[in-house]
Amino acid sequence: TSKVHELDASKLVVTLADPNARQVPDEAAANAGLETICTDHMVTASWNHQSGWGVPELKPYGPISLMPTASVLHYATECFEGLKVFRGFDGKLRLFRPNLNAKRLLMSTLRISLPGFDPVEVEKLVAKLVAVDGAKWLPKTRPGSFLYIRPAVIGTQPQLGVQAPKEALLFITASFMPRMDSPAGGMRLHTNPEDMVRAWVGGFGYAKVGANYGPSLLATNEAKARGFHQILWLYGQEAYCTEAGASNFFIVWRTKEGKLQLITAPLDDKLILDGVTRRSVLELAKTRLAEEVEVVERRYTIDEVIEADKEGRIVEAFAAGTAFFIAPVSQIHHRGTDVHIPLGENDSGAYTAKIKSWMKDIMYGNEQHEWGLVI
Ligand code: PMP
Repeated sequence: TSKVHELDASKLVVTLADPNARQVPDEAAANAGLETICTDHMVTASWNHQSGWGVPELKPYGPISLMPTASVLHYATECFEGLKVFRGFDGKLRLFRPNLNAKRLLMSTLRISLPGFDPVEVEKLVAKLVAVDGAKWLPKTRPGSFLYIRPAVIGTQPQLGVQAPKEALLFITASFMPRMDSPAGGMRLHTNPEDMVRAWVGGFGYAKVGANYGPSLLATNEAKARGFHQILWLYGQEAYCTEAGASNFFIVWRTKEGKLQLITAPLDDKLILDGVTRRSVLELAKTRLAEEVEVVERRYTIDEVIEADKEGRIVEAFAAGTAFFIAPVSQIHHRGTDVHIPLGENDSGAYTAKIKSWMKDIMYGNEQHEWGLVI
């Protein structure tokens, strides 16, 4: 009988690219690009139901080939992750809590009947890619720069029957991204159109599957055309606040009793993504702001937000995620009502700024912390 193989990063086969084939753009050029600029290499590993995971490969970045009947192209058997590697001010490369992304990838993968793996192996493969491409793409002369890493798993079996794919591909790319600046004047959020929801109880909003993203673009584009940056997704008759675009959403407010709270939507409804940034914000706030601010994960409605605004109780708001990092929110528009949130000095509330700087210090090695994995 043949053996079913586990995903094993130690078996990685390396084929290096011509080092002159791809140029590192300057940051301005990357801003103007129509296409994502990837680094020299990518990692791939294929799976089939009989022999399990094949030997992972690190090889020159390039196209992958799929049959037109591949499962992913028809039935959205796709999930992905997003994390960053940072060039620290101490010259070191760091991943930020990559173990959480690897675990979340496994959760998403299993949700869409793709094959499981030991998340530690994915974390190791990410680290290998970064170790190979980091020196050229994040030169020591550019401290404060970062790459965006995109692991994904897709169903590749060329079979139009609706069934769990018997073949799959894991791949990891790293791409160049311009530095993140929060939008000047703060992020403006528009609540979702009345006839659209992003996630629902019993659905898969908590998984990072591609099927959550494509259908959300319509609402986002409409909001952008009206001058807003992202959708604040509300849920249900009660209109609970859930997430803002591809980020989690936080408010600092005072309760009617005058108590200062940092509030965000809970995970147990399975409506929102368990963001790595979200978790980190909550953990830092609980340990470092415990004296001043109560940290609360609970359902809260847009009406509570509007009421708090009318009573002058909103202190700050921000969106938190890997792509935009921590972005102060200055406005929420909900069906004819506008909530204007004060931004404070340097376009950011004081708590928002504090949390953001703690996180940055960990990401860039100004503070040595277990969340920063040195490569
Ligand atoms: N919510 C959604 C829907 C997202 O796509 C993301 C981005 N992964 C987040 C929240 C933020 O998660 P993280 O902090 O892990 O990037």
